[in-house]
Amino acid sequence: MKILILGGTSEARRLAAALVGDARYDATISLAGRTREPAAQLLPTRVGGFGGVDGLIAYLRAEKIEALIDATHPFAARMSANSRAAVAITGTRLLALRRPPWTERPGDRWTHVPDMNAAVAALGTVPQAVFVTIGRQDVAPLQAAPWHRYVLRSVEPPDPGDLPPDVEIVTARGPFERDDELRLMRNSGIETLVTKNAGGEATAAKLDAARELGIAVVMIARPAEPDSPPIGVETALSWLHAATERGA
Ligand code: NAP
Repeated sequence: MKILILGGTSEARRLAAALVGDARYDATISLAGRTREPAAQLLPTRVGGFGGVDGLIAYLRAEKIEALIDATHPFAARMSANSRAAVAITGTRLLALRRPPWTERPGDRWTHVPDMNAAVAALGTVPQAVFVTIGRQDVAPLQAAPWHRYVLRSVEPPDPGDLPPDVEIVTARGPFERDDELRLMRNSGIETLVTKNAGGEATAAKLDAARELGIAVVMIARPAEPDSPPIGVETALSWLHAATERGA
């Protein structure tokens, strides 16, 4: 079965690890190309946008893709919407992985905001030390609050033109451990954490560390998506196996 996995996440890598070497599947991973040095992929990989819905339709048809797995990040809403629109035309099977969002636990001090501009507003006017873990592409709004001291963590450094004046860049790729998060937040005197509600295990340790240290969290809500129960890698594999048996 010819499969296209829309990737850029740990789930896509885990799915690839499960499919590699399985003769029933001929799978390709698709990356947007945002990261200059992406993590090594186990499956053949194509890089770059398709050119909107029409481009994706053309790709699915040209490559005779039989199953499309949307394993993109919960904040990659456009790609997910494009995949739904494309399969509505081509009839390709589609399964979208869904991580449950993170939810507050006792001891958490979260402020919920709808987007990055609201997150910056929520930081207020009193200067403080802020740990920002939202990816390098969305940091420009921080320039609206230049009085804070920022520690900004991303896989690759952001564009210098997007940065606020008082910023330390930490480049690192998850998963992250609780003890390392505790150390980073303590050593930098962090008072507030700004994060997207990505969900998942790989980057959840910062929330445990924030709770333990009494650090406030500004939690950016996910873009709206169609309602769907959580769907993980194991479910995706069962779905593929069932589809292969039906096809055979
Ligand atoms: P997005 O806003 O949903 O997508 C913007 C455009 O980028 C899409 O219309 C598509 O271009 C292209 N694109 C996105 N994902 C692609 C993929 N897997 N393969 C090929 N083209 C893709 O996406 P985004 O938020 O910029 O995220 C880009 C990638 O980074 C995704 O693969 C996502 O899984 C990963 N990622 C995102 C975040 C985040 O916070 N947003 C965090 C971690 C990882 P065309 O319309 O030209 O096809």
